[in-house]
Amino acid sequence: MESDRVAYVNGKIIQESLASISIHDRGFLQGYSVFDTTRTFKHRIFKLEEHLNRFYNSLKYARLDPGMPRTEMAQITMEVLETNLPLIDDDDDYWVTQRVSRGVSGPDGEAPTVIVETVPLPFKARAKYYRDGIPVVVPSVRRTPPEVLSPRAKIQNYANLVQAEFEVKDKNPDGWPILLDMNGNLCEGPGSNFFIVKDGVVVTPREQFVLAGISRSTTIELAQELGIETKEADIDLYDAYTADEAFVTSTSFCICPVSSINGSNIGDSVMVPGPLTSRLLDAYSGLVGIDISGQYLSRL
Ligand code: PLP
Repeated sequence: MESDRVAYVNGKIIQESLASISIHDRGFLQGYSVFDTTRTFKHRIFKLEEHLNRFYNSLKYARLDPGMPRTEMAQITMEVLETNLPLIDDDDDYWVTQRVSRGVSGPDGEAPTVIVETVPLPFKARAKYYRDGIPVVVPSVRRTPPEVLSPRAKIQNYANLVQAEFEVKDKNPDGWPILLDMNGNLCEGPGSNFFIVKDGVVVTPREQFVLAGISRSTTIELAQELGIETKEADIDLYDAYTADEAFVTSTSFCICPVSSINGSNIGDSVMVPGPLTSRLLDAYSGLVGIDISGQYLSRL
């Protein structure tokens, strides 16, 4: 069925398998492009407006002009998604992504490459993390610091995150990287923000050093609604090793418990997820109208 999906590419909605972009595209030549990704829950798109706001902020930071207002980007996104939804089962869902690259630069100026696409979420491959928790491994590769390129913008160049992933997978094939920032504090991994729970307080790194994940802000809002204290603060390895609970947030995971860091169990590790992580995950499931871990666990 995969080849039947459509994508929007530079003004046209076409079959994904027929889509092509120039070999001179600067997204490919220089890694110069920006993207954003949301997902569906029960086939309904999640927080599209928030994702597009972040997308247009990333574009502004990167000095990229998509050539269309966000209302048009939203309309194209919905058209691609609605065309592709009949291709997946009722209990499957999509990642939904917009991408803009610098495109081709030539004597006639430059035009961005604009893509909107959907990909089925990898429930089966990641289901084990809801059963066992995520074994986090901290690689030697550090996250790009704001002085080099702001991690707050969702820039397509994931070279350092992918390098980290290779290093971690060599140590533990199931391992999930969470990188240190240049100050030696834990910051984020490929596509995921990091949280710890200590003495009843939910703590996550400051926004200056990480992408402000939409699932991160959703989790903070849910915690506040539940009367749980939240804090943005530096988290070093001591904080992580001695945390009561830890979890990651991302568009695909929403909230997923962490079982260990560099082989050191989190909390008493008898219960994954821990009690506060559980409450937050339940609240997230309530918000999106789906049993989040159940959707993953059903694939085991
Ligand atoms: N951190 C990075 C580097 C990311 O690329 C992402 C998302 O892909 C996240 C965090 C999580 O953001 P969100 O919750 O919006 O998916």
